[in-house]
Amino acid sequence: MKKYIISSFLCLLALLPSAWASKPEAPVKAVIISGQNNHNWPVSSVTLEKILKDSGLFDVTLVYSPGQGQDMSGFNVDFKSYDVVIMAYNGDSWNQKMQDDFVEYARNGGGIVFYHAADNAFRNWEEYNRMIALGGWEGRNENDGPYVYFKGRKLYRDMTPGPGGSHGAQHEYTMNRRSRHPVTKAFPKHWIHAQDELYDHMRGPGNIKKVLYSAYADPQLGGSGHEEPLVFTVDYGKARIMHIMIGHAGPTTAINPAMDCPGFKTLLLRSAQWCAGRRPTVSYSSEN
Ligand code: ZN
Repeated sequence: MKKYIISSFLCLLALLPSAWASKPEAPVKAVIISGQNNHNWPVSSVTLEKILKDSGLFDVTLVYSPGQGQDMSGFNVDFKSYDVVIMAYNGDSWNQKMQDDFVEYARNGGGIVFYHAADNAFRNWEEYNRMIALGGWEGRNENDGPYVYFKGRKLYRDMTPGPGGSHGAQHEYTMNRRSRHPVTKAFPKHWIHAQDELYDHMRGPGNIKKVLYSAYADPQLGGSGHEEPLVFTVDYGKARIMHIMIGHAGPTTAINPAMDCPGFKTLLLRSAQWCAGRRPTVSYSSEN
């Protein structure tokens, strides 16, 4: 009996350190999906990878699809083995299994960051469009859903017919906080984003959960004249989705202002942490 009690006590002792020690959290397992895009994906993919790796918080896998026009039938990603998926892909259709796996991952509570032109992809994949809530280009029009932008403090759904997806000249602009969220906590209410595209006239099912940031698309620079939702979460079952419309890749990794912007980097990192079910910890400094 005594021996049993002692061994039980030792067992307890063995368990205690893992519960008590304030050891650092395990890295977030992230996968970046790239390989095709109408944007400079060789630059955006390695830049996304570097931002995540440099934070020291992520275990990053970078996946490239087959090239445009090549056989996609064998392409797949084991989504469920990752805490967060960074979607940086805009290209040929995925095979049915990969589509099904992605939907299952999202429905089971997966974390997904949709980055910039990922919302141009897959116009004809209905579930994908529900995951991004708003998309653009690739022939999108009123059949894909309303334009969605702010009128005053509220999101407005505008059913005017017309093409989906536009932006004016690249420029610096102010990101305006629209709601409080664990991701926004590190930022001032307004922060300046480096030179970038400002997506407008986006349309889709519009199942936005919470807009974190909007920006004004100045008509003098070719914009819509509306305050456009640029960073938002999406209402898609149990999925943790952050749609980040900013971050157009530059011509080289050395000339890449939108992705080098401290605001973009911080937003990406905190969003990836949040989507993975972690508490966002990365701090923001415009001096970064
Ligand atoms: Zn772009």
